[in-house]
Amino acid sequence: MRRCLVWLRHDLRHRDHPALQAACADPESEVVAVYLRTPRQWELHDLGAARIAFEQAALPGLQADLAALNIALVVAEVADDTQIPAWMARHVAAWSIHHLYAHRAHEIDEQRRDAAVAAAVAEQACGMSLLDDVCLVPPGRVLTREGRPYTVFTPFKKAWLTHLAGVPAARGAPPPRQRCWLDGSAVTVPASQDSWTRFWPAGEAAALTRLERFIATDLSGYAVARDHPESDGSSRLSPYLAVGNISVRQCLQALRRHGSGDASGAASWLNELCWRDFYRHILAAFPRVCRHQAFLGATDALPWRHDTGDFARWCEGRTGFPIVDAGLRQLREQAWMHNRLRMICASFLAKDLFIDWRWGERHFMRHLLDADLAANNGGWQWCASTGNDAVPYFRVFNPVLQSRRFDPQGDFIRRYVPELATLDARSIHAPDAAMLRARGIDYPPPMLDHAQARTRVIAHFRGLRTLNAAQMSLFSAT
Ligand SMILES: Cc1cc2nc3c(=O)[nH]c(=O)nc-3n(C[C@H](O)[C@H](O)[C@H](O)COP(=O)(O)OP(=O)(O)OC[C@H]3O[C@@H](n4cnc5c(N)ncnc54)[C@H](O)[C@@H]3O)c2cc1C
Repeated sequence: MRRCLVWLRHDLRHRDHPALQAACADPESEVVAVYLRTPRQWELHDLGAARIAFEQAALPGLQADLAALNIALVVAEVADDTQIPAWMARHVAAWSIHHLYAHRAHEIDEQRRDAAVAAAVAEQACGMSLLDDVCLVPPGRVLTREGRPYTVFTPFKKAWLTHLAGVPAARGAPPPRQRCWLDGSAVTVPASQDSWTRFWPAGEAAALTRLERFIATDLSGYAVARDHPESDGSSRLSPYLAVGNISVRQCLQALRRHGSGDASGAASWLNELCWRDFYRHILAAFPRVCRHQAFLGATDALPWRHDTGDFARWCEGRTGFPIVDAGLRQLREQAWMHNRLRMICASFLAKDLFIDWRWGERHFMRHLLDADLAANNGGWQWCASTGNDAVPYFRVFNPVLQSRRFDPQGDFIRRYVPELATLDARSIHAPDAAMLRARGIDYPPPMLDHAQARTRVIAHFRGLRTLNAAQMSLFSAT
């Protein structure tokens, strides 16, 4: 009798799960799945309470789904990753496990952890396999003619598209086991009462429902609606993808099934799935980004500000720029922020306030349900012009123009900055201080002058003598 253990991490589902499938490949094998809570590690990696609660909330449903396959789900707790090798060694020995399966991680700390676990279980005569799961095309496969990783999105995408035909079809649940040597004790999860729970039902079933609904009703208008925060025109699947309640192959399959529908919507959504792969390929190929170093090393010499007062105003959504404040307040209410707002808010922090982008990156990690090192770091470095943005550093988002363009009627602002709800579409994007006073509206004046802030940040970037050479090498590395 072959006994297998499947170690679940950010892959909390039972369908299209390569590690589960591999463990169940032998019809005779008995399989147990394990999920380890690591509170100290979460803290070290800046994972916030909402994200942790969202991940945990998926466990009872997953336990039931696995139980129907005769697979027990064990949930245990260790303080942090350093304790996992010993925990695994103890349990593979106690349960006489032949093989441990998990999905490959690309972050430095996680790779070290997995290597230590493989060594620890090997001492108990247990093998360990890491399978590709998180990307459509695994990191390391999309390379230039010279065999180097791409560092700019457009050429990466061109090459990435040629690999898509090889993406395996999404699979269903693995075949049920005949028996299991364990009964996992029932997982209990305290229900969160926080406001984000109204927007994000947890678990695999909720994720699949959302995917089907998005493909059926929203994909056709996605290319345009995705940029307008009020229209809710994007899939809102990122939290489910981040904790793995759904696989990216299931997304691709649903997209392909949609077939002859609106081509621009489908192409545009595929483009976003490609960005997701791109940032993970970057993280895997350039591990320094895991250490919070700038992708463009020269920009680490920029004299970033570390002003805690200004940073607090930004975090609280009291900058006096309504679209920026609306984005940051959406983050507080939903533990999620629309992509356009993420770009505007990140640009405002890094460019207008010239505050260290790493502070913003950490704030997002701590508050987003979809917190993901690769996508978050990539997004922040893109906005701060320290990373893989093909647009030069002097592109600085104007928050008022962005607001007029992407929230023209001001409806999104009205929803999240209710003190401005009575303002008309003309004045809501940059309210006049005298008018606010006259109407008795308590809303802060703009905390800076955008034109001056823009001049300041451009001067700082120009001052980096080595930047141009670094950027040139980035652009030529296609
Ligand atoms: C500063 C900044 C920080 C970000 N931090 C994160 C993060 O921590 N986690 C995260 O998942 N995304 C992050 N993003 C990317 C993007 O904002 C979100 O993925 C997107 O808003 C999720 O909404 P959606 O699911 O409706 O996306 P859709 O538009 O429906 O896109 C489908 C999926 O593609 C992926 N995706 C879309 N855009 C991007 C992108 N630009 N980069 C990488 N993947 C993308 C997501 O998994 C998303 O669910 C960040 C972007 C910026 C600018």
